[in-house]
Amino acid sequence: MDVLVINADLGPLHRVSLRHAVRMLVRRVAEVHEATPDRLIGVYPVPTVVRLVRYVVTKWRYSAGPAWSRQGVLVRDGRVCAYCGGHASTVDHVLPRSRGGRNLWTNTVAACDGCNQRKGDRTPAEAGMVLRFEPATPSWASLARR
Ligand SMILES: [Zn+2]
Repeated sequence: MDVLVINADLGPLHRVSLRHAVRMLVRRVAEVHEATPDRLIGVYPVPTVVRLVRYVVTKWRYSAGPAWSRQGVLVRDGRVCAYCGGHASTVDHVLPRSRGGRNLWTNTVAACDGCNQRKGDRTPAEAGMVLRFEPATPSWASLARR
């Protein structure tokens, strides 16, 4: 079960594991903001949302952006295929992994099965396929809001 961490101004930041959230409570860097009713973990109500006690300047704190994940790419792109606009369930590497393409926000897009297979081990230019947008690093907040 994931716990949403929100800033002192209630802006969503990111998700952490329940264990991590409880450690934040123990260290008093966060307080329970919303909890599952009638459930305790140790002395704490089981949190669904914890709020940082002190405001964190997100640009500085998370300047590198959230860690890359397949799931994150699908969320960032709203599960819309970057090539045809259809429903995406896979992640395509713009520069294929077999050619040195890495797991980076800027090198990965959501893609449908068909487009992903059609593109294969080629770049979009080689495959004659056009990206509908430039992939970019998402903010923490944009991932947390979905
Ligand atoms: Zn597609």
